[in-house]
Amino acid sequence: MKTIGLLGGMSWESSIEYYRIINEEVKARLGGLHSAQSLMYSVDFAEIEKRQHTGDWDALTQVMIDAAKRLERGGADFLVICTNTMHRMAPEVGAAINIPLLHIADATADAIKAQRLNTVGLLGTRFTMEGDFYRGKLEKDHGLKVIIPDEEEREAVHRIIYDELVQGIIREDSRKAYLDVIGDLQSRGAQGVILGCTEIPLLVKQENVSMPIFDTTTIHAKAAVDWALRIS
Ligand code: GLU
Repeated sequence: MKTIGLLGGMSWESSIEYYRIINEEVKARLGGLHSAQSLMYSVDFAEIEKRQHTGDWDALTQVMIDAAKRLERGGADFLVICTNTMHRMAPEVGAAINIPLLHIADATADAIKAQRLNTVGLLGTRFTMEGDFYRGKLEKDHGLKVIIPDEEEREAVHRIIYDELVQGIIREDSRKAYLDVIGDLQSRGAQGVILGCTEIPLLVKQENVSMPIFDTTTIHAKAAVDWALRIS
């Protein structure tokens, strides 16, 4: 089994989900007392969030590269960045290390294509919904059509992530707000919706939604187990 390097803490509310899912998945596949071989490097999210909102992406790139190198030095065989937003600097991080990086958007696109869908809605932070690093990858590398919420809806989705979900706050009115946004995406042609922020699955579950949801936390964690157990 390979050792999974988890770059976490963004936020820890979702990092514990990664840790739980990869261990449950290894146990389900190998049975008995098996669990995942992994390392986690977890950052102080307050520092990250401050720099995201002041637009200091160069400093954040250095923080991510430093953390990834620590995981590599610690013996990780490949890297999993446990957040969608911080894949913004995935190319620079990937280039700075000598182990592979398992990109969350590639894993998610594979799950969408496996269901033979081509038009999907995308929920996430404003950075993920509006930037090119995520949508562009889905569209250019995987041929998917991506629909994002309108500006007012994006603002609400983003605010709920930072004011509530990354702080472990789950509110019924926020779930309702997300479901309304998902309903709008569906009426605009989405055949499924990407929960493109690793805390959104804490709020929105498949049973709440009448089209397929793509829970990026679970998809990414299970893809990490695929890599860890792959014979090569
Ligand atoms: N975990 C979130 C994501 O998947 C947001 C926190 C962050 O900014 O990294 O995008």
